[in-house]
Amino acid sequence: MNYVQRGFFWICVYLCMVLTPLFVLLLAPGPLGSGFWWDFSIALGFAGTSMMAVMFVLTARFRRAAAPFGIDLIYYFHRWIALVAFVFVLAHPLILIYLDPSLLSGKWPWVMPGYLLSGAFSVAALTTLVVTSLWRQQLKIHYDAWRIWHGLLAITALVLAIVHIEWVGNYVSSPWKRLLWLTISTCCLALLLYVRLIKPLVLLRHPYRVEQVVKEKGDAWTLVLRPEGHRGFTFMPGQFAWLTLWNSPFALKEHPFSISSSAIDTKTIHFTIKKLGDFTARIKDVVPGQTAYLDAPYGAFSIDRHPYSDYVFVAGGIGIAPIMSMLRTLADRGDDRSLLLIYAYKTWEGLTFREELEKLKEQLNLRVVYVLENPPDGWEGEKGFVTDDLLSRYLPGAPARYHYYLCGPAVLTTLVEKTLQRQGVPLYRIHSELFNLV
Ligand SMILES: Cc1cc2nc3c(=O)[nH]c(=O)nc-3n(C[C@H](O)[C@H](O)[C@H](O)COP(=O)(O)OP(=O)(O)OC[C@H]3O[C@@H](n4cnc5c(N)ncnc54)[C@H](O)[C@@H]3O)c2cc1C
Repeated sequence: MNYVQRGFFWICVYLCMVLTPLFVLLLAPGPLGSGFWWDFSIALGFAGTSMMAVMFVLTARFRRAAAPFGIDLIYYFHRWIALVAFVFVLAHPLILIYLDPSLLSGKWPWVMPGYLLSGAFSVAALTTLVVTSLWRQQLKIHYDAWRIWHGLLAITALVLAIVHIEWVGNYVSSPWKRLLWLTISTCCLALLLYVRLIKPLVLLRHPYRVEQVVKEKGDAWTLVLRPEGHRGFTFMPGQFAWLTLWNSPFALKEHPFSISSSAIDTKTIHFTIKKLGDFTARIKDVVPGQTAYLDAPYGAFSIDRHPYSDYVFVAGGIGIAPIMSMLRTLADRGDDRSLLLIYAYKTWEGLTFREELEKLKEQLNLRVVYVLENPPDGWEGEKGFVTDDLLSRYLPGAPARYHYYLCGPAVLTTLVEKTLQRQGVPLYRIHSELFNLV
């Protein structure tokens, strides 16, 4: 099966998982109907709950299911579909209260019947989860703390929703409807065990050793890791890994980084990391011999998914890392197709991999255009920012026949995407890697 067929297959699997509880709900025997809007609100509650349950599958990072889309797209989908589930779940009690205001009258939380209380707390947990996710940065919640609370709130919301469904009981009266919700609960528990226990255990048994820590231009460091006691993994150039340092995989304190080394020689794996916050600021303190863990490979940002094309790369700052992996791989393969790299950064001195790119120009049919925000005196190359005009000057004739790989700040990738689309490049030929999943 190719990527499109596999993608279609997994979309069907997703729809089956989300819709099955709804169809089962429609089957007899069910409670007597209480009017369209009442039944509609119940259906919304069930749909929202099954979407919440499937969210655990989406974020469990199953490589086979994620491969056709790329994990970043799955996280993006997770973010939007979670909002839809939230609207469904929230609409469920609101419609019921509108239809029957007595549901609220005099029932303060401590005198509410358990079946209502579990539902109310489930909605409260979900609301907290959505608010803290949408406005995490404004609320100044650190990513690591947010991640732990995100997981706990998701489990709480789902468990309470299932308790609410079972307690109300009307719609799960037949044994096999009960069986369905029991199966959903068991699957969620199994997923939790897989993510928190089995996967970390597998990572623990496949450690990596830091071999070198190399200072790069542009406030970046390259970590060179070697698999210890196992063969490591193969990957497509441009893919990324979840890296754990200073912790065991059970701590779930992992960070995503693109692999910057060639996909041909996988004896060592390189990551080139720029200082941004707590974790990345400590990379310079990593010492050779230190243990690391890698969950990899992930991502769909790779030339190997479109092997029969010419390529244009656009990098901004540390966005050069995955592109470097692709260029190094092409060089190792002795590839001679025509390549263009537009590489934007503030200064000439800070251009990570500048010297190696100059060498790669001799090995590959590669043209590199540097775009400097603050160029040195006497600079005759491109200055300022990547603009529409600059792109139009360098984009090769018939731009629609290339595949484009963009990685860098969102302002850069968005501008380039729009320019390419205006020039008639179809969306499926434009590939962007986002460095901020959340
Ligand atoms: C697919 C992908 C590939 C990446 N490749 C590279 C690379 O090659 N080189 C590089 O320097 N950076 C890369 N990044 C960015 C890198 O993951 C973040 O800079 C790093 O995790 C920030 O952590 P921090 O604690 O230093 O900063 P913080 O200040 O804690 O976080 C800064 C931002 O980074 C994101 N972030 C922080 N922790 C995590 C985490 N555990 N998981 C996901 N996102 C997190 C959040 O959006 C956060 O707001 C990549 C990111 C992604 C998603």
